[in-house]
Amino acid sequence: MTRILVTCPECGADGDVRPQHLVARSCIDADWHSYAFRCEACRSAVSIDTSADIVERLTRSGVRFVAWSLPAELTESRPCSPWTARDLRDFHAEVAQLTTLHGAA
Ligand SMILES: [Zn+2]
Repeated sequence: MTRILVTCPECGADGDVRPQHLVARSCIDADWHSYAFRCEACRSAVSIDTSADIVERLTRSGVRFVAWSLPAELTESRPCSPWTARDLRDFHAEVAQLTTLHGAA
């Protein structure tokens, strides 16, 4: 039976886990890869950055693979007009009011 050696970054415990207790993940928009498991010693949910090669080796060993993508909001352009003198004056008034409400000098 395949067992995969892992080290928990939270508690430092070494352990070996079965492939079905790990998840390998790759971002399809960037070169980001990781694997995740729950530490048997401290019960922390652990995610460890790794390489595409390690993800491939894990999935060949029976680890479940999850591909994910960055949120679409990251690529949306949001038109924004530059601040005017009035915006700056209104912002200053808001900060002054908050400062007064919270008793700061
Ligand atoms: Zn741990």
